[in-house]
Amino acid sequence: GLSGRLGDVLEKLRGKGSLSQDDVNEAMREVRVALLEADVALPVVKDFIAKVKTRAVGQEVIQSVTPGQMVIKIVHDALVEMLAGQVGTPDEGEADRDRTAEILNLNVTPPVPILMVGLQGSGKTTTSAKIALRLKTTQRKKVLMASLDVQRPAAQHQLAVLGEQTGVDTLPIIMGQKPVQIAKRAMDEGRKGGYDVVILDTAGRLAIDEELMVEVAEVRKVTNPAETLLVTDAMIGQDAVTVATEFNDRVGITGIVLTRVDGDARGGAALSMRAITGRPIKLMGVGEKMDALEDFQAERIAGRILGMGDVVSLVEKAARTIEMDEAEKIARRMEKGKFDLEDMLSQLKQVRRMGDIKGLLGLMPGVAKMKKQIEAANIDDSLIKRQEAIILSMTPRERRHPEIIKASRKKRIAAGSGTAVPEVNKLLKQHQQMGQMMKQMKKMGGMKGMAERMG
Ligand code: GDP
Ligand code: MG
Repeated sequence: GLSGRLGDVLEKLRGKGSLSQDDVNEAMREVRVALLEADVALPVVKDFIAKVKTRAVGQEVIQSVTPGQMVIKIVHDALVEMLAGQVGTPDEGEADRDRTAEILNLNVTPPVPILMVGLQGSGKTTTSAKIALRLKTTQRKKVLMASLDVQRPAAQHQLAVLGEQTGVDTLPIIMGQKPVQIAKRAMDEGRKGGYDVVILDTAGRLAIDEELMVEVAEVRKVTNPAETLLVTDAMIGQDAVTVATEFNDRVGITGIVLTRVDGDARGGAALSMRAITGRPIKLMGVGEKMDALEDFQAERIAGRILGMGDVVSLVEKAARTIEMDEAEKIARRMEKGKFDLEDMLSQLKQVRRMGDIKGLLGLMPGVAKMKKQIEAANIDDSLIKRQEAIILSMTPRERRHPEIIKASRKKRIAAGSGTAVPEVNKLLKQHQQMGQMMKQMKKMGGMKGMAERMG
């Protein structure tokens, strides 16, 4: 059948070492300890490990790396992927770009309500002011903040002080009002005053209680916030599970803010909360100062949770070395204006091996155009595997002289690779386009010439 044939093809591609069940089991014991030490909740650890095990078995081990190290790298990548979720991470080279508008949903009729919830002392009030300041400076939003904390008289005052510090308006305090009343007044004031955003800072309790949940749920109902952010301290540890579950089930949250990331907690709570609620971690607090608010960085938190940064960077370095070797080989052929289907195959192999399409294409000059196409077409691993299978179903002569591939050969190749003729055509066309780019580069004096011209 199809999968069998593809399976055989992949076996050939895979080279010598692929991860065995034993390799993976052994390394996973270490991973399990690391995750538990980082305070990730046990059910989350179990679930995560089971998923990654399935993914890791059979993956190729790159040169100069042990199977155990390879597993750690796969775990790390899975951790990053899971933590990043929909919010994702900025593309390479745009780390400084302001992503506030992507991270926070502000696409409702103003004033946009943002509700801050969480336990007492988690950092809600501080984070409210930090977000307000950021919306004001990077998005030029007119922001109003309101404290619904009637538990502690000092709480409303605390927000007023932060408002003054950041130059953000706060709702005038009227003693004796209930949280829901204050919330309604804040929204009224937001409309009358022409505010873009109204941040509602709620009270917390030291532990979850019925009154708190009812109160917060009611505030959410009357204000219908665009964002309901659960603020939690990175040091929360095992309580993360209860807190995240309760707030998500009873109130409903749209995202999580992790505070005190500047402390030395390993941050396993982030993984627990993300896994349990399915909600993205959007922002992180990295200090007491008003500008100490950053976009959530999955890489950074994953590194801390796993605590095996050395291994991860070692594997990454090894992968880059191979990538460079292979890229150089292809580059030398390109300089001679040569780029046959064998070259394309080794490029595809490499792309898949790295598990990152963008990575390799980004390295190769002139391929940036294709990179865009690939991103637009949302090409995945399975497509690359099919493309590899197509080339592998060609005879060596066909690979060196694609021009001889006519209708009947195409049919044979499609059948042999478990694909269809249009897909074969598409690949040949892509190869042709790449070849044209290579020729153009040759005219410009190859890569060296181009580099000299540019530099
Ligand atoms: P709330 O009870 O949830 O409103 O918590 P607060 O906003 O009043 O914060 C409680 C304490 O934590 C304050 O002293 C804040 O300065 C501090 N805090 C909040 N966020 C951070 C953070 O990201 N890093 C550090 N180091 N301290 C924080
Ligand atoms: Mg507070």
